[in-house]
Amino acid sequence: MVDRLAELRRRLPPQARLLAVSKGHPAERLRVAAALGQRSFGESRLQEAIPKQEALADLPDLDWHFIGRLQANKARGVLRHFSTIHSVDSLELAERLARIAAEEGLQPAIFLQVKLRPDPGKTGLSVEQLRAIWPRVQALPALRPVGLMTIAPLDLALELRGGLFAECAALAAELGLGELSMGMSGDWPEAVAAGSTWVRIGSGLFGPKGCQR
Ligand SMILES: *Cc1c(COP(=O)(O)O)cnc(C)c1O
Repeated sequence: MVDRLAELRRRLPPQARLLAVSKGHPAERLRVAAALGQRSFGESRLQEAIPKQEALADLPDLDWHFIGRLQANKARGVLRHFSTIHSVDSLELAERLARIAAEEGLQPAIFLQVKLRPDPGKTGLSVEQLRAIWPRVQALPALRPVGLMTIAPLDLALELRGGLFAECAALAAELGLGELSMGMSGDWPEAVAAGSTWVRIGSGLFGPKGCQR
């Protein structure tokens, strides 16, 4: 992990921050990354994240991002345990988050997740849906919409991903959103070339799940 982290730091431009996607990896692996200076961690399941956050509670400056599909009944827990949510995929969810955030006195940063290519396995707003809900999302108190998030379909060729990420970047610019959560272990260079400001990297940092190096 030491070498992979060093290489990522060397290759990532300053505007692209590294979200260490730690799902599937035990707290002790996150502790190693934190000792090397990594602060932002991405988790996709609340039940998995809570015990890890508790195990790392002695490291007070960690920044937790939720990147998984968010079920309505988990909204309050996610808000309590994460500063940033990358996976807001409907107006209904945004409204629920805004209501609960206000109750809890929180101001979470949110990314709206967009789906720019057909992808049966993944959620996300279409461009039309995004444009339609955007004025209402902006009007919600308590939420801070900061950017767009997208995931390239697994079967989309690498040479076509740059175009997908560029479309997402153009859409964010149109809405006046400055942050772009794009790029994973297999395609982060393409995402960074298109302007990603948050690359979400799991296996490319921690190794395959169960790997101790
Ligand atoms: C797991 C996951 C990642 C990291 O994937 P890797 O290919 O291991 O880098 C990034 N984003 C989301 C939404 C994920 O669920």
